[in-house]
Amino acid sequence: MVQTQLLDRGVQDPRVIHAMRKVPRHLFVEPALVNRAYDDDPLPIGAKQTISQPYIVGYMLQALKLKGTERVLEIGTGSAYQTALLAEMCTNVFSVEKLRSLAVQARTILDELCYYNVALHLGDGTVGWSEHAPYDAIIVAAGAPNVPAPLGRQLAAGGRLIIPIGGDQSQTLKLTCRTPTGLEETDLGGCRFVKLLGRYGWPG
Ligand code: SAH
Repeated sequence: MVQTQLLDRGVQDPRVIHAMRKVPRHLFVEPALVNRAYDDDPLPIGAKQTISQPYIVGYMLQALKLKGTERVLEIGTGSAYQTALLAEMCTNVFSVEKLRSLAVQARTILDELCYYNVALHLGDGTVGWSEHAPYDAIIVAAGAPNVPAPLGRQLAAGGRLIIPIGGDQSQTLKLTCRTPTGLEETDLGGCRFVKLLGRYGWPG
C-alpha cells in the first residue's frame, strides 16, 4: 500500500509515510473486509459511511504539513483510522463524530491501540469544538457545500484547514490557511466524500 498507492503517487512526507506504515489499517475495517483493508479503495464501515481510500488520507495529511507539535481538530472520526494516523503525527487530536455507533467503536479501538492523546466528542462537527480552539490544523473527512464558518474561526494563526467542498456527488479539496492578512484558499483537486451533515453542512 505505502509504496504503490502513496510513494509512487507523490505522497512522500516522511511523517505521513511513517504513520501509514505503523497504523494497522486492517484493525479499522469490518472483520469481513479485512482481506481488502490495504486495497486502493474506500470501504463500508456501517451506518452508510466509509473508511476513506488510503491515498486520499495520505494526500490530505501531507497537505497539513504537520511537524509533530500541533493540536489538530478532525471532523468525521468514522473508523478512527485517520484519527490514529493523526495521533502518531501531532501532540493532541480532537475528533468529532456525529454518529454514536461509530464514536463508540472509535473509542474502543483507539484505547486498544493506546492512543491516549485523542479526545473524542459526539456531536455536530460543523460547529467545530470551541472548547479546545484554536487549532493548528483542521481536517474534515466529509463533503460540505461551503466551508463552515466556525471552523475558519477556530483556526490558529498560521493554521491550515482542509475540507472537501462541492456537491453531494463530487467535491474539490480546499485548503484554507490563516495568514497575517486573513484566510487564503487554494484548490487541491477533485475528490468524492460522504456528506457532512449538520448546522453548517448539508441538512439532515
Ligand atoms: N476519516 C473517516 C471518514 C469517515 S466518513 C474514516 O476514514 O473512517 C465521514 C464521517 O463523517 C462519517 O463517520 C460521518 O458520520 C461523519 N460526519 C458526517 N457529518 C458530520 C458532522 N456534522 N459532524 C461530525 N461527523 C460527521
